[in-house]
Amino acid sequence: MKILIVGSGGREHALAWRLRQSSRVTDIVCAPGNPGIASVARCENVVADNIEGLVALAKIERPHLVIVGPEVPLVMGLADKLRAADIPVFGPSAKAAILEGSKGYSKDFMAKYGIPTAAYGRFTDTAKAKAFLDGFKPPYVLKADGLAAGKGVVIAGTRAEAEAEINDMLGGKFGTASASLVIEEFMEGEEASFFALCDGDTAVALAGAQDHKRVGDGDTGPNTGGMGAYSPAPILDAAMQRVVMDTIVEPTVRGMKAEGRAYSGVLFVGLMIADGKPRVVEYNCRFGDPECQVIMARLKDDPLPQLLACATGGLAGCARLERFSDPAVTVVMAGAGYPGEPKKGGVIGGLDEAGKVPGVTVFHAGTAKKGEDIVANGGRVLNVTATGPTLREAVDRAYQAVGKIDWADGFCRKDIAWRALNRG
Ligand code: AMP
Repeated sequence: MKILIVGSGGREHALAWRLRQSSRVTDIVCAPGNPGIASVARCENVVADNIEGLVALAKIERPHLVIVGPEVPLVMGLADKLRAADIPVFGPSAKAAILEGSKGYSKDFMAKYGIPTAAYGRFTDTAKAKAFLDGFKPPYVLKADGLAAGKGVVIAGTRAEAEAEINDMLGGKFGTASASLVIEEFMEGEEASFFALCDGDTAVALAGAQDHKRVGDGDTGPNTGGMGAYSPAPILDAAMQRVVMDTIVEPTVRGMKAEGRAYSGVLFVGLMIADGKPRVVEYNCRFGDPECQVIMARLKDDPLPQLLACATGGLAGCARLERFSDPAVTVVMAGAGYPGEPKKGGVIGGLDEAGKVPGVTVFHAGTAKKGEDIVANGGRVLNVTATGPTLREAVDRAYQAVGKIDWADGFCRKDIAWRALNRG
């Protein structure tokens, strides 16, 4: 079978790497890919938001399945256009990807279907938004309605900060993405990510993970795309996964079908868990990055049959992905300056040595090839991923591999998985 993967990050490298191990996969094409992906797939230079270019590529390649990594092409309707060309695709339609594409829509949807989440209001008017803050104590949670490259959520510590942010957002800080905003209750608890596979009718649990959003050790400093992740997440044990499926995932899939927006692909639910009760922080319509890397590293069963069933139906009759290896962790190496302007162009050595540490795979995120060298070409550059008999050993292996990477401008957090390790 031929697979076309859309995207260029560590998430897409992990998907390509895992599918390369499938006995049923003969060809993998990735658009646009990166130098790491090029070792397991053929890369074609069409970027992930060039919808017409991707459809044209798919019509030439005629893959048996297209897997869309990032959210932007899904919200832009890539899956719809591929389906119209009779090409099976893993990823929701634009009508279903609205769960991620509009925070306001997702809040109204959850309210309608009784799915647990924070209390909220939606606003386009500055004065009304500010008045709504009266109902809450700080910190205040403000969210741009649309996609804002992961920067659209602001947790304001004071009323003055919240009001300034309301002015900025409704004043066009994120363009049309913040023409409307959601203000919601701040939820206390432990965050975790849960992933379920869906075919429009049926949802099956895949796995849980936890990531580290802040740039600095001890979860300090500004938010990033994610500085590391691990799976399983101890808080998402089998009983909690059942609660999440019963109270969140299944009502979501049923509700989306009832709305005429049947959801297929992976449903990624960001959760806040307190007193044994999970509530939704946000929905995402694709795999998390870096959570995908740890889930792919752990999967012992070939995921292809389930991914295909998500695209074409019949997930209920498909064998479950039940065999997971030991814990996995990924440590993100980023360029100095990230999440601000990262230093680019530095040569990265030691990748082969790092990949020889037992259980370790180094996924490329923001790399480029310059002559024979691999150079840094983004904020998050490498995802050093390790499995181990215990989470502790997985973490030690990942950092051992990080130590073998020779990249003057690179840095990483030194405490990935601290929360799970501290649980003992
Ligand atoms: P989101 O993009 O919606 O996941 O928000 C980014 C981060 O902001 C989340 O990972 C949470 O850490 C935090 N956050 C968002 N909404 C809330 C909330 N209602 N209460 C507490 N923290 C939140």
